[in-house]
Amino acid sequence: MNKLLKNLIELIFPSNCFGCGLEGTWLCNNCAEKIPICSKHDCFWCNSNTRKRNICLPCQQESQLSALFVITAYQNLLFQDMLHNLKYNFASSISDAFKFLLIKYFEQNKINITSKDSVIVPIPLHKKRLAERGFNQSELIGNHVAEILQLKINPKLLIRTKNTKSQMTLNKADRILNMQKSFVCPDPAQVKGKDIILIDDVLTTGTTIREAAQALKASGCRSVSAIVLAKGGLINMKDNVRID
Ligand SMILES: [Zn+2]
Ligand SMILES: [Zn+2]
Repeated sequence: MNKLLKNLIELIFPSNCFGCGLEGTWLCNNCAEKIPICSKHDCFWCNSNTRKRNICLPCQQESQLSALFVITAYQNLLFQDMLHNLKYNFASSISDAFKFLLIKYFEQNKINITSKDSVIVPIPLHKKRLAERGFNQSELIGNHVAEILQLKINPKLLIRTKNTKSQMTLNKADRILNMQKSFVCPDPAQVKGKDIILIDDVLTTGTTIREAAQALKASGCRSVSAIVLAKGGLINMKDNVRID
């Protein structure tokens, strides 16, 4: 974004730190320290013990992912507040606050998933939802990841064909039904032989990521891994209040 536009937006929507209210930033350095960065090597899919790419072998098969990286825990209330405001209050500049967390994560965890064929693909929104929100939060996060890891990003490799209900309100079986065949690759030639790195904001049951990975694999990509900002438990997000 150019500087003039950024200054103008800052005038209309002044940013304040979500943690302490400090002006001029969405997340000050002090408050950023209060968001823990994940470093554990357990499987993020089933919570069993594994040392390999944060996803155990059976879960690699179930999820279609060869690696899974989770930046922080969704249970952190400051993080929840930031993400909720990014998604529902139409303030795309909040995504800048997450860049700090991503940089810290990649500094602390040496991850080795990139190849010369790596391409970042954000989980797309359905065009109706994209029109309502004006931006795809996963694409904003994906842009940061692409910049940090110096990789290409291509949001056009995956299309969401179903305007699915919010996954938050559904049980696990209904989530799977809700998401079935909800992604297609419009141009399989661009996907063939690539190592795709999917980007999503929150991993809940994993249904969304799995459906996206399946569509990419059906189009001939070599591997799919995923980077998500956070993993939630069974959390119902409503008005920033967590209901366990
Ligand atoms: Zn602060
Ligand atoms: Zn597992």
